Formats: sequence, C-alpha cells, structure tokens
Amino acid sequence: MSAAVSMVPDKAGRFGPFGGRYVPETLVAALDQLTQAYEQAIADPRFHAEFEFHLKSFVGRPNPLYFASRLTAQAGGARIFFKREDLNHTGAHKINNSIGQVLLARRMGKPRIIAETGAGQHGVATATACALFGLPCTVYMGEEDVRRQKLNVFKMQSMGTKVHPVTTGSRTLRDAINEAMRDWMATVESTHYVLGSVVGPHPFPRIVRDFQSVIGKETRAQCLDQLGRLPDVVIACVGGGSNAAGMFFPFVDDPSVRLIGVEAGGRANDPGQHAATLSFGKPGVLHGTMSYVLQDEDGQTADVHSVSAGLDYPGVGPEHSYWRDSGRVEYTACDDSSALESFYLCSRMEGILPALETAHAIKEAMRIAASRPHGDIVVVCLSGRGDKDCYEIARLSGQDLETASVH
Ligand SMILES: *Cc1c(COP(=O)(O)O)cnc(C)c1O
Repeated sequence: MSAAVSMVPDKAGRFGPFGGRYVPETLVAALDQLTQAYEQAIADPRFHAEFEFHLKSFVGRPNPLYFASRLTAQAGGARIFFKREDLNHTGAHKINNSIGQVLLARRMGKPRIIAETGAGQHGVATATACALFGLPCTVYMGEEDVRRQKLNVFKMQSMGTKVHPVTTGSRTLRDAINEAMRDWMATVESTHYVLGSVVGPHPFPRIVRDFQSVIGKETRAQCLDQLGRLPDVVIACVGGGSNAAGMFFPFVDDPSVRLIGVEAGGRANDPGQHAATLSFGKPGVLHGTMSYVLQDEDGQTADVHSVSAGLDYPGVGPEHSYWRDSGRVEYTACDDSSALESFYLCSRMEGILPALETAHAIKEAMRIAASRPHGDIVVVCLSGRGDKDCYEIARLSGQDLETASVH
C-alpha cells in the first residue's frame, strides 16, 4: 500500500473512478461556490479555531477513548476500546458535521439552512446547530420516518426547526434527500444544504469526511498518549459512511492499522432484506455521486432493510467504494439479530446503551478481539447512544413501552 491513500479526492471530486458530480445544471454554480468557500475556510486559521471552539464548548469534545474491560474479558483476546461519540451533545457523531457546515453557511452569507434526515439524528443535530447560531432551518423527512421517530420530530420542532414530511416514493431517507435537493435547486441563492453523510455530489463527501475526521484524529492522539502506540484494528459501522470515514481517514496511510467497516446485514442476503451496499451493490449513480449502489436487474435503486434506521440506505460514500476496491478497508456485514444481541451485551457488560447502528460494529469487534492476542488493541467507533432505539428494541423484544408494566 503506497502512502497516497489519503490524497483524494482530486479537483473534480473523484476517488479513483468514484465520486464526482452528477447533478442538474442549476446546482453546479452552488457546488462550485461551496467548494471555493470550503477551500478558503480551511486555509483560514480563524475558521479552524472557531470550529474547535464550538466542538469543545458546545459538543463537549474531546470525548474519551474508553477501555471496555468486561467486553474485553468476555471476548478473551485483544483489548477493546470505545471512542465515545455517544457522549457528544445530541448523542452521536452527526453534530460534528452539522456545526462545521453551519459555520460554512455563515461564511458564505447564506441565511437559511435545509437538511434531510432518516431516523432524525442528523435532523436533530442540524436543528441544534441552527438554534446555536440563530438560523432558520427546514428538515425534510419521509412520512414513514416522521411516524416512527416522533420524539426526534418533537425535538427539532422545539428548537424552532420546520419539519417537512415527504410523501413521495418509499417515504424514507432517499426520498427526503431528493426533496431537499429539489428545495435547494429553487433556493440556492439564500440556502445552504447541510448533507448528513459522506454522500452526494462533490464537494460534500470530502467536506463531511473532513469535519468528521476529528473522531480519528483524537483517537490517534489518544492511542499514542494512553497506550503508547497505534491501534491494531479500527472498526466502525457504515450507513452512508460518515462516522467510519471520519474514524478511518487519519489512519489510512498507516499500513499497520487494519480498518473494518460494518454494514447492515438485515434479515437475509436476499435483495430488499439488507443494506449491505459494498457486499452486494454494483457501481452506479445515486444522489449525484458515483459509488456502489444496491440495484435490481433493471438498474433501479433497490429497496433496503435494516433494524437500524441509520444504516438503512441503498448507497454509500464514494470514498468507501474507493477504499473497498483498493483493498485498504475491509467491509463486512452484521445481521439484525446479531446487532440486537450486541446491543444487550454491551448494555449489560459495560453500562453503555449503544445505538443499534453502533451495535453492528461492536459485534464485529467482539469477533475480531476473540481472534487476536491479548496485547492487541481494537478500537470501535461508538457512533451514538441507544436511547433513540429503546422503543423499537422493546417492541422487537415483545414489549410496548407506552403501556408496559414492570415484571
Ligand atoms: C446516522 C448514524 C449512523 C450512520 O451514518 P454514517 O454516515 O454511516 O455514520 C451510525 N451511527 C449513528 C449513531 C447514527 O446516528
């Protein structure tokens, strides 16, 4: 592996054959403006200082690199550490990117923010950043997700965000992205679109990766400081791929560090029953970027399923496609029932309720740790806390939290 894995994307936003920009003409000017504003921002020390200030004072960074001692004993091999993104304000990694992009919107003088959301985590993070900076915000959310995630809808509305239910298509995340793009096309002069993962047209995959790279940078420094060396294995779950990209990127030029992404294996390997894009997808264009996409025989975007709403996406960030094909990162999948098992195991053994998305990565960490010597270091990105999933997990376990009595 050469030391050049980190030297992407190129000027056109290409990660090898992936990435780029497949959008209507009306968006090209806005994407060019965003690219230019971003390059100026990252060359400006004041922008970095401002971003770091808010990550520290508002988000609560740096969060700990935590030794999961009881899960380590249970696995019986390598030491398992958690990078605690669940301890960020709003409970997940999404806030890192939302704050960065809202700061960028301010620099561009755009007074209005829009965003898409699936389960609502990115919507809540963006609504939070907009409340912090006093900007009006509209969040597009599939009607089906509005119904399933009432609490997040209430949180966004409480912070002054307008939640716009999307009634087209499957009424989930991918339709919400389409609607947000449509809004943006009509309002680009006044509006910045805060995309929530490392997907979409250039420059979004790079911007989101960079803002989320605070995860991997802190982890790298904490490993060197607390453990005296780099980790042997780093593991993260992959939906669109932002927590994984942010965690992996600062390690991609360290050939000794094995990187593993975990996708949603769902109920089965049959089409429509999972969201394991890098295992079962083919290269194609979705939401303005070239990447692996789950497709049917006619090339139509396939239906997807996962127990965790945050992994339930038929595409994946173009940089992950590049890392997959170059062999730098390995990708695997964890099925719904293993993720649920892992949720309960982590809760009981560590006193930490992980998000269902994160539970996929913890499952793989247990498997890998068991196969490696005691001295080895396995780090998992604990992308978020599980509070948001308690109703759904209870329902899947045969309880209804609205009416439950204690046995
Ligand atoms: C949104 C979310 C994910 C999946 O999104 P990525 O862009 O793949 O990181 C994973 N974990 C949590 C807790 C999330 O909220």
